[in-house]
Formats: sequence, C-alpha cells, structure tokens
Amino acid sequence: MNNMLKIQGLKAKIKETNKTVLNGIDLDVSSDSIHAIMGPNGAGKSTLAYTLVGNPSYATLSGTVTIEGKDILKLSPAEKAHAGLFLAFQYPVELPGVNVAQFLRTSLNCHHKASDKDELNNADFLRIARTKMELLGISPDFLTRNVNNGFSGGEKKRFEILHMTLLEPKVCILDETDSGLDIDSLKTVAKGINSLRNANRCFIIITHYQRLLNYVKPDHVHIFSKGKIVKSGGPEIAQQLEEKGYNALMENSN
Ligand code: ADP
Ligand code: MG
Repeated sequence: MNNMLKIQGLKAKIKETNKTVLNGIDLDVSSDSIHAIMGPNGAGKSTLAYTLVGNPSYATLSGTVTIEGKDILKLSPAEKAHAGLFLAFQYPVELPGVNVAQFLRTSLNCHHKASDKDELNNADFLRIARTKMELLGISPDFLTRNVNNGFSGGEKKRFEILHMTLLEPKVCILDETDSGLDIDSLKTVAKGINSLRNANRCFIIITHYQRLLNYVKPDHVHIFSKGKIVKSGGPEIAQQLEEKGYNALMENSN
C-alpha cells in the first residue's frame, strides 16, 4: 500500500454559516509525490486544508481521511500533527511575545515526546535550527525575534517552510505559500520543498500560479471548483491554466 494520504468522499461545512463548502473530495496521494491543487478564489481549497488539520471553524459532514491507513479525522489537531500532518498557512499569524527559538523548540519537542524520543536541549536544537536556516537563507537573527511579528510576507512564508523542515512531516500541505513572494523567496521555498522530498513524505501544494511549479515539479495537478475536484491530470494542466484561464479549462472538462 503506497497511499500516504487517502481522502474519500469528504464533505465539510463552515460551522458559523452552516454553508457546505466541500462537496465530496476524493484524493489519493502516494508517498514521494507532489499534488498541486489549483482553482478560483472561494473554491474551497483552504477549507480542504483546514478541515484536514482540524480547524474548529469547519465541521466534517461525511467521508474518511487516512494517513498510512490510519483514520485521522477524529484525532485532535495535536494528534494529527503527531500522525505526520502539517499545514503551512496561507496567512501565518503573528504571535507577539512568543520567541521564534522557543516556539520551534517546543513544537519539535512535542513531536519528540509523542514518539518517545529524547527532547532536544537548547544547544542541540540551535545546531539543527541554524543548519536548516542556512539552507533556507533565513538569518540566525530570527531566532531572537517574535513569531511572524514584523516579518515581511516573504519572511513569514520562509518561516512556515523552516517549521516544516524541522518537523519533517509525512503529509505537507502548503496553502498558497508562493503568493506574494519575490523570486528569491520563491526559490527558497522551492528549495525547502525539494530538499524534503523523499519516499516517506508527500505534498499537497495549493497555488494559483504556474510560477512555483517551475521549480517544484508536481506529479499530479487538480482543478478545484465549488468544493469539488473537476479536473485532474499532469503538470500540463497548470500550463494550460496559465495560458487559457479557469473558464476555458473547465468548459473543456465538461
Ligand atoms: P479558497 O481557498 O479556494 O479561495 P476558501 O476555502 O477560503 O476558498 O473559501 C470557500 C468559501 O467558504 C468562500 O465562499 C469563503 O468565503 C467561505 N468561507 C471559508 N471559511 C470561512 C469562515 N471561517 N467563515 C465564513 N465563510 C468562510
Ligand atoms: Mg485559500
């Protein structure tokens, strides 16, 4: 069985408005693969990401989600993270008063604890963090700053990738991590993703643009519309989308 992540018939609604936003999602993501999800604003892409990680604003109506065959839908967000799920947020939140080094070390040690591994002391953590930061072109000065506080858009997205590379998740979901990035930040983000690609990991990359996909080669591309996957194929779909737009592509799929 090579299904790292398997989603079957997933329907979900927004609790506050009672609006159903996911209308039956089926997606098989095997290990070592990258799936890109594209689609117009409001299609439900972020809702899919939030429903998977267990954001309390969304309620699952039906369907199953498994990671390596284990049902994860009913787990708490922390348990899901320990099962290997990670979401890089579209809009990373600022946490004034929460120091970057403390935040990352606590997050990493929670994982160590959950998998009965020894917790890292500060020196060991800093050694690992500095190596990863160097790879991602993040200045070590960031360790003393507060999480996302006063970070530029590009720095926030790099920080999401740093968090991801430290946790080494099995299922990495990136929600518009490429939006608003200059070319250097985009390449750094791509480098982070590519450096993590391996046989024990898969990626779902939500994006509007072909741009990131020039640096991170997806195996499959899915077009999302009105809470459903309306078209799936290879990287050529992203290219066609760039050239023709959603409407033309969706007409062709009917
Ligand atoms: P996408 O990421 O594809 O742009 P979203 O998943 O963010 O789309 O949103 C899908 C729909 O659900 C939109 O109409 C959006 O306004 C609505 N929506 C999403 N989250 C919430 C929320 N927390 N409260 C109210 N409406 C929401
Ligand atoms: Mg979104």
